[in-house]
Amino acid sequence: MSLPQRLVILGSTGSIGTSTLDVVARHPHRFAVHALTANRNVDKLFRQCQAFRPALAIMGEAQAAAQLHARLRAAKLRTQVSSGVDALCEAARSGECDTVVAAIVGAAGLLPTFTAAQAGKKILLANKEALVMSGALFMRAVRTSAAVLLPVDSEHNAIFQCLPRASGSNLGVERLILTASGGPFRTRPVATLDDVTPDQACAHPNWAMGRKISVDAATMINKGLEVIEAHWLFDMPAERIDVLIHPQSIIHSMVVYSDQSVLAQLGNPDMRTPIAHALAYPERIASGVTPLNLAQIATLTFELPDMARFPCLHLACEVIRDGGGASVILNAANEVAVEAFLAGRIRFTAIERVIGETLQRVPVVEAQCIEDVLEMDRRARVLAHEAIRR
Ligand code: NDP
Ligand code: MG
Repeated sequence: MSLPQRLVILGSTGSIGTSTLDVVARHPHRFAVHALTANRNVDKLFRQCQAFRPALAIMGEAQAAAQLHARLRAAKLRTQVSSGVDALCEAARSGECDTVVAAIVGAAGLLPTFTAAQAGKKILLANKEALVMSGALFMRAVRTSAAVLLPVDSEHNAIFQCLPRASGSNLGVERLILTASGGPFRTRPVATLDDVTPDQACAHPNWAMGRKISVDAATMINKGLEVIEAHWLFDMPAERIDVLIHPQSIIHSMVVYSDQSVLAQLGNPDMRTPIAHALAYPERIASGVTPLNLAQIATLTFELPDMARFPCLHLACEVIRDGGGASVILNAANEVAVEAFLAGRIRFTAIERVIGETLQRVPVVEAQCIEDVLEMDRRARVLAHEAIRR
């Protein structure tokens, strides 16, 4: 029997992290958890350490790390504790790790995920923001180090499954179709969007996700970020990537071939399917997901997105046309705006204004290295905060 796959799960306390550990727990002989990480959720990381006994636990914040350390020692657990981004990067490149699950939300995930790419790891990529920010550099690092990059984002995982070979080959592929649920406000009167609350924006009809990506789904900028993600992952020009609203979230995306065959991947909307697929790839393992019952679902429907209803998606599409650097600014401004919306400091409809103003004010630089990306991200955040104060 082969040795277990040693996992570093970045962002293990989040929605994707929790689903990953659910799948891992079903296959104790296949996987060994080397490291778990969180930002400041001490309670949850402590419970995960009790259940999975990792060698290492890393917190974003030092104070949280001290609390976790005390609780682990009191429980007589030997997990080592550290904190900060350097510790995350060290774990991502460690010789004790075969596979990195990149499930930190937002730009905070960039450096450790990029480090895993440079170190030639198998990477299960949920943290789409890392690829949106650093696409060309990231894909170059993957190629140079012969890392294995497996998409966990459900649409990209679906496309990966429908592509002709394992990866890298677009032979005969004409278009990619990314499906989107349309989020909680697909049919709500546009004039009432000014007044929606963070909880309403986070009440996704089909998926239970973290709050940041839930708001991204409500504005549909998530689908714009996913077009950029697909462009880099599958080396496909953005003009050949379509967005199609499919409110039931049963078809997770499709590949159109030149002979007009269309291959789709279907399943109930549960992230444990793409996670299990990527964890065991190229094998298949049980995920715990309820079997799909198409007779019960009966109807699958489709429509085009309305850009007037979803101006953030429109902004993202423009950024894609402008190319590389602008997506760093879009991503940073969106993160700042979403945080302000979730904190009750701006209205839902102001997210688009903050992103638009920031895009106009930050000069786009084509990044030559990851430091250039981080510098553009910093500048965009400063100006996005200014836009919020206005
Ligand atoms: P969550 O908000 O649920 O979890 C985020 C995780 O990242 C938590 O473990 C959190 O720790 C940690 N974290 C947050 N900020 C920092 C930081 N500054 N430093 C270190 N760790 C940090 O997010 P999701 O699981 O929903 O999403 C994770 C990623 O996966 C995102 O990029 C998202 O776009 C992508 N994704 C998610 C999907 C989903 O279904 N949820 C689907 C497809 C993609 P703590 O708990 O302590 O805050
Ligand atoms: Mg997705």
